[in-house]
Amino acid sequence: MIDWTSLLDQLARGVAALSDHNSSGAPVPPYPRETQYALDLIVHECLRHGLTPPAGVPELIQWCTNLSGQQWPFPPAFRLDGLALVTSVQRTRTRACAELAGLANVADELLSDAVADAPDSAARRQLLRSQVLVGPDTHRELLMRNPKAASAFRFVKDLYRPPSDEWVTHGKVALCGCGLPARLDSHDDRLTVWCERETCPPGAVSQLLPAAKALLLHPALRLFLALPAQLEDRLRNGLNAAGQAGHRDEVRFSDGRARPFRCYDRVVPVALARDAVAGGVEIAVVPDDSAMADPDARWAFADALPTGTTIALMTEGELIAQAHPAERTPDA
Ligand SMILES: [Zn+2]
Repeated sequence: MIDWTSLLDQLARGVAALSDHNSSGAPVPPYPRETQYALDLIVHECLRHGLTPPAGVPELIQWCTNLSGQQWPFPPAFRLDGLALVTSVQRTRTRACAELAGLANVADELLSDAVADAPDSAARRQLLRSQVLVGPDTHRELLMRNPKAASAFRFVKDLYRPPSDEWVTHGKVALCGCGLPARLDSHDDRLTVWCERETCPPGAVSQLLPAAKALLLHPALRLFLALPAQLEDRLRNGLNAAGQAGHRDEVRFSDGRARPFRCYDRVVPVALARDAVAGGVEIAVVPDDSAMADPDARWAFADALPTGTTIALMTEGELIAQAHPAERTPDA
């Protein structure tokens, strides 16, 4: 017997692998090994519960647009309400799927490989967190604006790929105001209708390139490095204003002790809890407007922490409000 979180993770890995395999349109065989394995697991669980299993991968993917449906082999008490691994309209994998599939670890590994032992590791990291879409002129533009970034770009170029079909409309690829790829309005390529962050309203395009000449940052780095970067910057500014200009990943409260924190822009409390434990942080910081700040999500996060582990989930506003001005060390 498999527990529901393991099964959900496995299903998410199956969907994520299929998304890499063929990013849009109906799934076609041969399917990736992870996808086939996820199907086998779900079929097994359905048969064990006396339910009709999905007829194949296309039907399983249909199930994944709403995991609170009747056919799901676990009772609704498992708090899957509203959870989807595939978007029902765009038919792409969701952020929830990426989080459950463990893409945050992939992002951490890609980043550490990209900056390891490099004398310009800070410039490489900064470039990756700020540059999601690149084109034929990017290197020249960086050279004029920031020669260090232009030099770093040469070493991290492998982390950019041609955009997958899901982000190409009429031969163009665009970024939303949030900095992530967006679907363009089919009649007006100055407007977006939907973006990878999933929560942005339709709005103005912030960057637009011909898809044939464009490269997008690796999807794991888009969601788990570039997306939380904006939160990191806001938080850093807020902490600086509170007199905490010290270590970039620590904060001091009134007891004077430094506590490690990390910024997360997430949608699944269980996956956030797992990643925060693995990251060794004491505080997981989320955006003020994040659904993760809702009482239900906070409860689910705390509930998912291993026994004996305490990690505070705080919004950026809560953290800054509690941040105590750093105490001055008296001169010796
Ligand atoms: Zn957006």
